[in-house]
Amino acid sequence: MPAVQAPADILREVFGYASFRGQQQDIIEHVTGGGDALVLMPTGGGKSLCYQIPAIARQRAGHGATLVISPLIALMQDQVDALHEAGVAASFLNSTQDWREAQAVERQLLAGHITLLYAAPERVTTPRFLELLDALHARGQLGLFAIDEAHCVSQWGHDFRPEYRALTLLHERWPGVPRIALTATADALTRADIIERLRLQGARQFVSSFDRPNIRYTIVEKKDPTRQLLQFIEREHAGEAGVVYCQSRKRVEDMAATLNAHGITALPYHAGLPAAERQHNQSRFLREDGIVMCATIAFGMGIDKPDVRFVAHVDMPKNIEGYYQETGRAGRDGEPADAWMAYGLQDVVNQRRMIDESPAEESFRQVMRGKLDALLALAEATDCRRARLLAYFGEEMAPRPRGTTKKIAAGADSTRTNGHFDHWCGNCDNCLNPPQVWDATDCARKLLSTIYRVQQMSSISFGAGHIMDILRGKPTDKVAQFGHQQISTFGIGSEYSEAQLRSVLRQLIALGALQVDAASYNTLRLLEPARPILRGEQPVHLRAAASAKKETRKRQAP
Ligand code: ADP
Ligand code: ZN
Repeated sequence: MPAVQAPADILREVFGYASFRGQQQDIIEHVTGGGDALVLMPTGGGKSLCYQIPAIARQRAGHGATLVISPLIALMQDQVDALHEAGVAASFLNSTQDWREAQAVERQLLAGHITLLYAAPERVTTPRFLELLDALHARGQLGLFAIDEAHCVSQWGHDFRPEYRALTLLHERWPGVPRIALTATADALTRADIIERLRLQGARQFVSSFDRPNIRYTIVEKKDPTRQLLQFIEREHAGEAGVVYCQSRKRVEDMAATLNAHGITALPYHAGLPAAERQHNQSRFLREDGIVMCATIAFGMGIDKPDVRFVAHVDMPKNIEGYYQETGRAGRDGEPADAWMAYGLQDVVNQRRMIDESPAEESFRQVMRGKLDALLALAEATDCRRARLLAYFGEEMAPRPRGTTKKIAAGADSTRTNGHFDHWCGNCDNCLNPPQVWDATDCARKLLSTIYRVQQMSSISFGAGHIMDILRGKPTDKVAQFGHQQISTFGIGSEYSEAQLRSVLRQLIALGALQVDAASYNTLRLLEPARPILRGEQPVHLRAAASAKKETRKRQAP
């Protein structure tokens, strides 16, 4: 057999790149040498080369073809075209082909004319495909298994695909064939699940830094999200490409229409659109400049557009993995990019409701609630967002000396109230403009005790609007109907603005002190963590609502 070619030579000759990025070289050498690997690398990190170069090296060394398992049928053609352009023999087998085309590919594969074969997991586990692999293996020509988007095997991942479960059989049937599994998402739970499900216990793990230093994270309080988004795009990204993630299909279409009405070229993308329209919009987004894609999470996986300048969330995603995956689509070219999210009380309520109403088992819902809480904590954080994000993926942010970035907010040091000085990234909203933190202990106690008293009076629970009305002393019909002006907290919170109260409620929900009961008109219930706050044993320091800050200032002026 010919000697294995140096990966760096293949990188230059075939792909035209001068040097490896991050851990690419180690990964490629390990896998080319026949080792198993689990690769965790952020979106845009360069995962494809980690299996493409070993595939070429192993083929040239006489070990045969690489099977790439990917859920992204729609993108296989693009991937194969790109490889052809580089002069690599690649092909795919999926449901878009008729049997004649498929048969031709199979013949080429058996003849040793294919270096990389892409296939969807549901295809791989069919008897016909398994026989094909058997035949290949018998010839000593089954060189490597590459399992892309490996988090799809885990129900804890954000994109569980049951077909991935069956991939266990690859290792059982051909234990001698090396495997590389790759993903851009994996918190500790998902990672453990991937290892277990794909039998990767013996694999070497390559965990890259998940930091995307060129992405600036900003999370704003949601007031009028459409207007806020328009302002953000017009001020910071006029004429640039971006993605706007929305919760529902209807919202996607409304948002696209609104942006267009304001002279921003926007296209909709969601699973409810006809396949041809989706495909058309996607390719326009990829090929034309400055298009804004309004989309549900159905959009984006595997899309490699280097110059996406911003990713905006006008609704909150389910968890940090989803948020990170989606925001990771910005700035793949390494140039400055924005991850911008507007988030409000209703988002918390909606996400909690979706979990509560899901048909899944309670243990599963418990995990989902935990993941949502982590995202809420990120949204409410007053310290560095990047440090929080990285910590979520088990990574500690390297200390960065202050002053390396020019854009330090004036007076940043003096307004900082927490001790996270070494967790300063200089490129997130909290680092650039440290938020004001106020002592909300009193306000929180008043809110919680109003909820408590109301519940005591009639054992009926009420929603946020009514609770705020009582505290602010508004004599509404509902207040009169239930006699709530008799409650001792009636009117004792009149100094607080509605925005302020809303922000405190949202943060109390995020803290787990309050539960929103979706089954009964979003009523609020006290939970155990409310107790020490009610008793005044636990101070509550919260992020000041932007509007509340202004009001306070106004009031202070004589
Ligand atoms: P991922 O799959 O991890 O999201 P890709 O494999 O699509 O990332 O790579 C992202 C981009 O970076 C691609 O355009 C790819 O060609 C480019 N790239 C990857 N590795 C290198 C490298 N060593 N040198 C230059 N460009 C690279
Ligand atoms: Zn920061």
